Amino acid sequence: GYDLELIKVGKVYDNGTPAVIDFDLAVSKGEFIAFLGPSGCGKTTTLRMIAGFETITSGDILIRGRRINELPPERRPTSMIFQNYALFPHMSVRRNVGYGLEVKGMPRAEREARVERILETLDLTAIADQKPDRLSGGQRQRIALARGLVVEPEILLLDEPLGALDANLRKAIQNELKILQKTLGITFVFVTHAQSEALALSDRIVVMNQGRVEQISPPHVLYRRP
Ligand code: ADP
Ligand code: ADP
Repeated sequence: GYDLELIKVGKVYDNGTPAVIDFDLAVSKGEFIAFLGPSGCGKTTTLRMIAGFETITSGDILIRGRRINELPPERRPTSMIFQNYALFPHMSVRRNVGYGLEVKGMPRAEREARVERILETLDLTAIADQKPDRLSGGQRQRIALARGLVVEPEILLLDEPLGALDANLRKAIQNELKILQKTLGITFVFVTHAQSEALALSDRIVVMNQGRVEQISPPHVLYRRP
């Protein structure tokens, strides 16, 4: 079976805006998918529907064969990383990263062990006691990534997570994401309007325009030179 299926998914906002139209996609476990297209084409709306943050107007989304509407939020194997980081400014880095596990009620010893491991992996141990508002964009992005990964999701949803970073850092985090894909077998759905990013990361690129899927292809097929 597939990890994630979108079947004729549509979204019309309350104000009548048709944001997503007949979106079909089947994603295998461990695949890295990018949604690529200009601002306003429906990428974020689609991601938010997969995350369960936005209702679906028509069609259906299946996560590991189960309809998303029938999966209670705490049983969804998805985790979302936001464009604007959405970190808690008054909490330390360590607490920000552990918050999701705290909410889930994971016992303290297990939670702390997991948090320390992911802080280590993302090179955040040295700044673990600091508050995010004192840190750089790149550091904040790694914290957001740590927070998404610490819950060990099967499907990681990322909304333009690298947009605010300089080129070197972007490259470093791209490499980290590919390593995580290979070592942990996580399925990635990644929203971007940057062609270079989609090319560097994805197994398949979903090209979107005005709410519709225009094409779904591996990068080398999409950008093969004549
Ligand atoms: P993006 O980077 O995804 O294009 P935007 O800056 O367009 O983000 O949107 C930021 C926020 O505003 C999002 O939460 C989005 O849902 C909301 N939003 C975008 N367009 C509209 C709209 N026409 N009416 C109401 N809310 C909107
Ligand atoms: P993208 O992520 O590709 O920039 P979005 O999914 O944010 O695109 O937006 C798709 C369309 O839906 C746009 O026309 C946007 O203005 C509209 N939109 C987004 N959020 C809302 C909202 N909360 N209410 C109404 N319209 C919205």
